[in-house]
Order: sequence, then structure tokens, then C-alpha cells
Amino acid sequence: MHSQTPDRHAFLRHPSMPWVVFTCAIVVSFFIHEMGHCAVAWLYGYPAIPTPAKEYILKPLPEAVQYQVALGGILGSVAALLAGAFWLHLRPTASRSALLAGAMTAPGFYTLRFILAGRGHDGTEFQEAQAALGLRYSGHAIDWLFVGLFVLATLFWFWRTGARPTPRLAGRLIVGALGALIVAVLLQSINNAVFDPLFQSKPKQNHLLTGGPEFPKCGQTTKESIETYLASGTVKAIGPVYARKLVEKFGEEMVAIVERESARRRCPFAYMPSVKAICLTQTLQRSLSTLL
Ligand SMILES: [Zn+2]
Repeated sequence: MHSQTPDRHAFLRHPSMPWVVFTCAIVVSFFIHEMGHCAVAWLYGYPAIPTPAKEYILKPLPEAVQYQVALGGILGSVAALLAGAFWLHLRPTASRSALLAGAMTAPGFYTLRFILAGRGHDGTEFQEAQAALGLRYSGHAIDWLFVGLFVLATLFWFWRTGARPTPRLAGRLIVGALGALIVAVLLQSINNAVFDPLFQSKPKQNHLLTGGPEFPKCGQTTKESIETYLASGTVKAIGPVYARKLVEKFGEEMVAIVERESARRRCPFAYMPSVKAICLTQTLQRSLSTLL
């Protein structure tokens, strides 16, 4: 009669199981990243709310804490990847492969973004984490860290599972990578749509699309208006902390540059606010790089 006992673990061997694990692992690994941010904020006594794809810090942070909070997320992602690799190392099953693949999604995403956009993470998170480690703020140490971890995790997976590179495997990996990208983008979009209105009084990034602070107008440039504009994240690689530093260091010079540019600037399609902002931003970025 034993043969008729229902196999209670049959669902674990269902062919779709690794895909379910994969999707869950992506969501969980993103959440671990956000928990990393929030854990550091909590340690310093600042209120913070982790959500599946974004951390919401409810009070302005001092510079040093801001840097540590940025680093916390990076450590979260690294920890998730190491945990996935360790779990696979214990027993290389299909589901554990899927789990590691899920934990590799964020590093893979950062690598792809680094290649396409020159920086693995939006905003200034990587720059701040680098500063927290005593590295150069504008360097690429964290970008390269994730490139390295992604490549190492891939090699480790091939070694531990003994997988042979076949066309079938290549096909599965491509489907997996596309699936991961879709899950990651959907997760972020849904997360922001749900939680931004709840926890964020003003949008943090993408002011070019949402219409953030105006580029200071000709004749109205002050150190404060420049700082507000830069702190909004509109200019690549500059966030609130760095904006304050720049304005402190180059205050009068920056006022002069912005005044000159806003007077002289002739932009094609300047009637479109977003295009105008991009043109001005590029000019400002060029001018800043000569200052730095
Ligand atoms: Zn983060």
C-alpha cells in the first residue's frame, strides 16, 4: 500500500519549480539590499522603511551616515550573493541553481547598467558607498566589484554544477536573463508606484522626466538655487551631499558659470522643458568637470 502514499514533496520536483524559486530569489535579494540600507539607518537612530525595491529614509541624514547607509545596501547585495553561492555549494540542485541565479540578478543588473550608462546604480549610491570605504567618490570601485562578483558567480556555478556549455543551456540562460530583467524592472516600477506616494514627499530622481527643480534662471542664480538644482539628482553623479560640497568649494565660481550658461545657452528644441534641462545639465557637467 506504500506505493499509493501521495508524494508530499512532488511539487518540489515540478519542472516549473526552479522558475518559481528564481523569481522569489530576485524579490528576496532586492529586499535584502534595501534591508541593508535601513539596518544602517536604524543603527544610527534614523527612521527608515524598507520596501521590496527601494528604501525610504524619513529624515535627512548627515553626510557620514548617508555614506554608511549607501554602503549598507551594497553589503546586503553581496551577502545575498554569497549566501546563494554557499547554498548551491552544499548541494547543486536545479532549485539551488535558480536561487543563486536570483541572487545574481542585482549584480548582473548593475553590470549591465555600468556597461550601458557608465554607472551601475542610479543616483549616487555607489559613489557614496565608495566614499564610506575611503575610496574616491567619483571612482568606479563598486561598479567593478559587481562586475567581478557576477563573473565569479557565473564561473563558480559552471564549476560546481559541472554544466556543459550547450546551445540548450545558452537558450535557457538567455531566457533567464531576460526574465530576470523583466522581473527587476517590474518590481521597481510597481514598488515605486505603490510606495513613493506613501513615503516620499517629493520624487528623488528622474527630474528630467517628472519636472523637478528648474535650472536656475538667468539673473536669479544664487548658491542656494544651484545647490537645490544639483541636489535633486538631475546631474549624473551628483547628489545632495556632493552638491553641498561643490557649492561650498566653488560657490562664486559656480554662480558665474551658471549665469553665463543660462544667458548664452541656445538649445535645439529648447521649448521642450525636458530637452532644455538635458542640454543645460550637459553644459553644467562639462563646466563642473573643468572645476574638479
Ligand atoms: Zn540601494
